[in-house]
Amino acid sequence: MNLDNHPCFNVRAHKKYGRVHLPVAPRCNIQCNFCNRKFDCVNESRPGVTSGLLTPFQAMAYLEEVFRQKQNISVVGIAGPGDPFANPEETMETLRRVRETYPEMILCIATNGLYLEPYVDELADLKVSHVTVTVNAVDPAIGSKIYSWVRYDKRVMRSEKGAEILLARQLSAIRKLKSRGITVKINSIIIPGINDDHIEAVAEKMAELDVDILNCVPYYPNKGSVFEDFEEPSKAMVKEIRDKAGKYVKQMRHCTRCRADAVGLLGETPSAGLMRKLQECGH
Ligand code: SF4
Ligand code: SF4
Repeated sequence: MNLDNHPCFNVRAHKKYGRVHLPVAPRCNIQCNFCNRKFDCVNESRPGVTSGLLTPFQAMAYLEEVFRQKQNISVVGIAGPGDPFANPEETMETLRRVRETYPEMILCIATNGLYLEPYVDELADLKVSHVTVTVNAVDPAIGSKIYSWVRYDKRVMRSEKGAEILLARQLSAIRKLKSRGITVKINSIIIPGINDDHIEAVAEKMAELDVDILNCVPYYPNKGSVFEDFEEPSKAMVKEIRDKAGKYVKQMRHCTRCRADAVGLLGETPSAGLMRKLQECGH
């Protein structure tokens, strides 16, 4: 397994190596105001396109076909369409199966981080080497404008209380990931008028935690979400924010806002054949 061949974490690998996402995680444990649950999680996906859903068993059949058709896949990731740890049984079972069958594959997870920490040891044991956590705010007052609720310990919490719990859980999960030697990427969605002035503070805090890379992702207007009328940030705004954040943490600038069922090189449109296979394997 060559960890440098991860196309999202290493810009030099992204034209050569691809990744496949297994859409095994439908439910979520928070509600982001930029998300419409009828579609994919936008933590790590382009909104507006529904995915097929797979059970862990179906995911293995689908993977077999993916590897038959594509020889350049270096990473298997789970990125939704909800949150991997709002579906921990499906997520962990899928990772175990993939690791057993494909010991050389890089394994990757993208999550909001709320319920990540209890699984970090098992992730490390399974050699999950790359984890992305979406952190949109490090101030609960700003977080309260981004999240309508957070469900933690069977309680639904709103406004600053919810944002505070989410942030605390994210920070301790990131610390634990780093203590287990896992490479950490942070995604921060740039939402104009809400957190565009705050991403630098996110970067500063993430640098303290020694994260490896920060991906400032421009918000993508998402029909049916609370923020549906918000404008997408301009290219100039995105560049300025990345430049400021780059003083603290290395920046990812080649993100293509992948779908939860993405397969192939970053930015590559999945082939109709593989999408059909996904539907056939799925439920
Ligand atoms: Fe939507 Fe993802 Fe946020 Fe959950 S974590 S509400 S699926 S964007
Ligand atoms: Fe991992 Fe995200 Fe890249 Fe998928 S798009 S492989 S989840 S970093």
